[in-house]
Amino acid sequence: MTNSQHILTDDFGRKHSYLRISLTEKCNLRCTYCMPENGVPLTPRSDLMNADEIFKIASVFVKHGVNKIRLTGGEPLVRKDFSEILKQLATLHVKLSITTNAVIVDRFIDDFKRYGLNDINVSLDSLQADKFQYITRRNQFKEAYNNIILLMEHGFHVKMNIVLIKGFNDDEIIDFINFTKHLPIAIRFIEFMPFDGNNWNKDKLVTQADILQQTVAHFGDDHLIPIKNEANFTARNYRIKGFKGTFGIISSVSNPFCDSCNRIRLTANGNIKNCLFSNTETNLLRAFREGDNIEPLISSLIKKKHAVRAGMTDFETLNNPDFHNNNRSMITIGG
Ligand code: SAM
Ligand code: SF4
Repeated sequence: MTNSQHILTDDFGRKHSYLRISLTEKCNLRCTYCMPENGVPLTPRSDLMNADEIFKIASVFVKHGVNKIRLTGGEPLVRKDFSEILKQLATLHVKLSITTNAVIVDRFIDDFKRYGLNDINVSLDSLQADKFQYITRRNQFKEAYNNIILLMEHGFHVKMNIVLIKGFNDDEIIDFINFTKHLPIAIRFIEFMPFDGNNWNKDKLVTQADILQQTVAHFGDDHLIPIKNEANFTARNYRIKGFKGTFGIISSVSNPFCDSCNRIRLTANGNIKNCLFSNTETNLLRAFREGDNIEPLISSLIKKKHAVRAGMTDFETLNNPDFHNNNRSMITIGG
């Protein structure tokens, strides 16, 4: 019998209370940093978790201490049974959240309210329609932008993710921060991460120092106010004096937050992944379908978690493509 106190605690004492579930490998956008140009080979539908399996597998994690679930993907809202999945998960009485590109979010406002999903992370990498089209390979800036505003009008707690890529959108850092002047939004600049086929290299990284240097030069040192970090924080957050919203920096590559990591990922095809940087996964769905107890599998993968970035302890290792080119694209892992 597995000790229910400990199956989600790793060898470094980190308790995993935050489950991120990818609902699909499909997406209505094609972001260059997330998806290879020619798409990804999709898992056959019969090998993906159905709504009932998502609920039952998630319940096992909740039984062992998960108190927050984030739905992600691919684009979670393109899944036809999204509302049914949300309805079932709402019965687990954990904090529910979602990460979405916002393109079709307007169709789900009522469901979000009905099932208590209040925390919404949206992704928008440019405030300019032509750049949005370039990075997403789709022409839907207006829909995404208007829906982000709509979410705030409805009172949702909105965070906005911006993957910064040097030479592409680092000239918009100040525009993004100005976006927080009158809006109650928490924007987060995210470092570009390496995945199979996304042409990552370290010269494309925009560092925390770059961002703060631009910010101080524009707004002045005395206007940059650091905000106290939450537990298990992933972003270093700031506010510009007098601004309604905040901005943060998520430096998962150059300065990871592994010490306080409480995240575990469940992919759409039912694999668990103990770290975003790891290229090993354990299939839970097969065991679940065979009627096996999945707790020992969960426990053994949690115990294999490395202290830092799946064992890539230094920047040189991370910069070696051999270490990350086998790591599936973000679209199939679930960001
Ligand atoms: N489709 C949804 C969206 O875009 O918000 C949810 C899934 S997406 C994979 C989740 C997050 O991962 C997004 O904020 C996206 O910007 C981020 N992401 C994808 N590829 C990335 C990469 N190579 N480096 C850093 N962040 C990445
Ligand atoms: Fe789709 Fe999100 Fe990946 Fe963009 S980042 S391709 S919106 S899953």
